[in-house]
Amino acid sequence: MSTPEHVDVLIVGAGLSGIGAACQLRTHLPTKSVAVLEAREASGGTWDLFRYPGIRSDSDMFTFGYSWRPWPGDRALADGPSILAYLRTVAEEYGVDELIRYRHKVVRASWDSATARWTVEIDHDGTPVTMTASFLWGCAGYYDYEEPYAPEFAGTESFEGTIVHPQHWPEDLDHTGKRVVVIGSGATAITLVPALAETAGHVTMLQRSPTYVVSRPAHDRLATRLRRLPTRWSYPVVRWANILSGMATFQLARRRPRFVKGFVLKAARAQLPDTIDADVHFKPRYNPWDQRFCVVPDGDLFRALRKGRASVVTDTIDRFTPRGITLSSGEELEADLVVTATGFQVLAFGGIEVVVDGEVVDAGRRMAYKAMMLDGVPNFAFTIGYTNASWTLKADLISAYVVRLLRHLDETGARSAVPVRPPDVEEQPIMDFTSGYVLRALDKLPKQGDREPWRLRQNYVADLRTIKRAPIDDGVLAFDTVPAPEGDPTLTAV
Ligand SMILES: Cc1cc2nc3c(=O)[nH]c(=O)nc-3n(C[C@H](O)[C@H](O)[C@H](O)COP(=O)(O)OP(=O)(O)OC[C@H]3O[C@@H](n4cnc5c(N)ncnc54)[C@H](O)[C@@H]3O)c2cc1C
Repeated sequence: MSTPEHVDVLIVGAGLSGIGAACQLRTHLPTKSVAVLEAREASGGTWDLFRYPGIRSDSDMFTFGYSWRPWPGDRALADGPSILAYLRTVAEEYGVDELIRYRHKVVRASWDSATARWTVEIDHDGTPVTMTASFLWGCAGYYDYEEPYAPEFAGTESFEGTIVHPQHWPEDLDHTGKRVVVIGSGATAITLVPALAETAGHVTMLQRSPTYVVSRPAHDRLATRLRRLPTRWSYPVVRWANILSGMATFQLARRRPRFVKGFVLKAARAQLPDTIDADVHFKPRYNPWDQRFCVVPDGDLFRALRKGRASVVTDTIDRFTPRGITLSSGEELEADLVVTATGFQVLAFGGIEVVVDGEVVDAGRRMAYKAMMLDGVPNFAFTIGYTNASWTLKADLISAYVVRLLRHLDETGARSAVPVRPPDVEEQPIMDFTSGYVLRALDKLPKQGDREPWRLRQNYVADLRTIKRAPIDDGVLAFDTVPAPEGDPTLTAV
């Protein structure tokens, strides 16, 4: 059997996180050999997968863009194709596109302490491929690409119209003139409703319970004002203005929930037509930021509701009928097209089976170190972004940390680094979000601890200190400094 190909760093996933990670390695550790394995045949991850009408960011692009590569222009909430173009341009600029191996789905990764390396089993179009790596970096996102969350509704087989899930939007689906029902009240539903309403006969947003919906300008006012300045000056200013205002809003919502609740509701009332009762349809039962806020650019959702092109119904589904959906209240919604914007299934580490010295790692029983490594799993990092701010803010910090960690290993001659959890650190759920997709997955996700560096801060400024600047050798990471056997050139320290 031939020796498997070996790389210093193996990145799993060529989405925003994987591309960013590889760019940082290319920039700061150019001598490392790096491969990016991507299960699909295209890069961009989320921004290539989702093709539904209106697909866009709900974070501002000045924090959703990489800190080291300015997002061009003043558009704060950008459409999916522009985000995808940005990611692919960045990948090309940094030569990362050449590192990506498409249709390479990582199935299993086994760490062997004796040789200090990962053996990675890959499914390449049905053919098994094996690679080895000194360091494994999971940038595989957080949800199942194949199976979205699709609760069963009675009677769907009798429905004579079309049912689609936004994760698998058919390219040739024409909704022009159709009566559309969008089931859901999350970011996807809120994006879809005004986009579909432009040409549909009518769109009804059918929600079980309301969500906080806030309008924000599609263009960033500060970025517009600073347009004449070179981007290298204006971008950090606009980026920090957005970081700080986002953090301030989050803190205010956590500390003064009643005030923020009232403020958001008042703003919704002002934008809604008299026929829609904000208390019924836009007043959530939970506190602000117990779940993600939904952001609408320039109030597009409210505009569609005002124009009568869309409406909102808050009720539960009794069953599908041949003509539409009957609700618990007895009302029937007639529909030609039903969009089930019911969300994702969270999937940790791209579904990869992780094994350490023969023992399968149960992620649900591990604790996350700085929310980016797992206790007892050597030379492994994963990138998962913030839930209360742009994903990329955290992804960039993790990239900076991994670069520092790899440098530290090189400088000290250590072969591996592993977080070691002290027995007295108390376990807590990784997130205090009450969103369905989080609650459904909590037992499969690693835990957080009650203190640094095991706590998940969801706070960029605090993480600048704990992730970007804190010493690598912090007494929690343990290093294996056993020298590589002589004569084996692949066993260099990472
Ligand atoms: C519709 C939508 C809108 C969003 N909007 C925002 C927003 O505005 N702001 C924000 O902060 N976040 C947003 N998010 C979250 C978003 O997913 C992240 O911000 C970001 O795109 C994640 O990038 P990623 O590279 O970590 O993951 P992904 O984009 O999910 O990419 C992961 C990649 O890994 C690959 N992969 C997975 N498993 C394997 C495997 N086993 N082997 C090989 N490859 C694998 C996948 O094929 C994929 O290409 C949104 C998510 C969705 C679904």
